[in-house]
Amino acid sequence: MAILSDVHANLEALMAVQRALQAQRLDQVWFLGDAVGYGPEPNECLDLLRTLCQVFLMGNHDAAAVGMTDVNNFNIYARAAVEYTAGILTPDNRQFLRLLPYLERRRGITLVHASPDCPPEWLYLLTPQDGARAFEQFAGTVCCVGHSHRPLFMSRISEGMVSVEHFTGRVQLEMGRRYIFNVGSVGQPRDGDPRAAFALYDDESGELALQRVPYEMAAVQAKMRQAGLPDYLITRLAKGK
Ligand code: ZN
Repeated sequence: MAILSDVHANLEALMAVQRALQAQRLDQVWFLGDAVGYGPEPNECLDLLRTLCQVFLMGNHDAAAVGMTDVNNFNIYARAAVEYTAGILTPDNRQFLRLLPYLERRRGITLVHASPDCPPEWLYLLTPQDGARAFEQFAGTVCCVGHSHRPLFMSRISEGMVSVEHFTGRVQLEMGRRYIFNVGSVGQPRDGDPRAAFALYDDESGELALQRVPYEMAAVQAKMRQAGLPDYLITRLAKGK
C-alpha cells in the first residue's frame, strides 16, 4: 500500500505522486491528513484524494479550514492560507472535511495525522522524548504519521529506549521492535528536498520505502501568486524547508 500525507492543496505534486502510484501494484492508498492549507487548489486536491484513498484522516489544516480547531497557534502565513481555503471550499468538500476521522487502524497499523497521543492536539513527534510518550498510546507494531513534513522513523527497542532516524530509502521492520514512521509531505516537504514525498509499505516483506518524485513546481507557484497567497509560502516550496 501507499501512505501519503500533507498534500496541502498542491495539485501538481499530488498528480506527480498519482502517476508514480500507477506504476506500482497497490491495493490501498492511505492518506494521513492535511489535504488543504498553504496551496492554491484545495477543492481539486480533495476531489482527487477522495477517489484515490481508502483511508482519509483529519489534519490540523483540514480542521482549521472548517472551523474545527483553534488557529491561534498557526503562524500568519498559515492563517492567511486558512482564510483563503475557507473562502473557496465547496459545500460538499466542507462537509466532507467536517466528518473526517482522527485515527484509524488498518491491517494492524495505527494511522494518525500528528500523534496517537491525543490526535486533536496536533503534537509533533520529533525527539526521542516525543516518541517515548507516543509509543504508549498505540497498540501493535507500527504507527504512521505526517504533520511535521519531515520524513523520519522512530524505533523502540525496549521500554524507554527510542531512536530517531531520517527516513530515506528502505527500512526493513525487525522482529521485536516497534516503529513510528513519518512519511513526509507530498505538497510541502521540509527536509531540504523539495520533491514530493510518500511511503510504500509491503506487508509481505515488512519493508517501508520512502519515495521522492519531482513535480511542476513553477506551475503551482504561479497559481499561488495568482491566488494572492503569501510570498513566503511560494518560495519555501523550492527550498523544501
Ligand atoms: Zn501539514
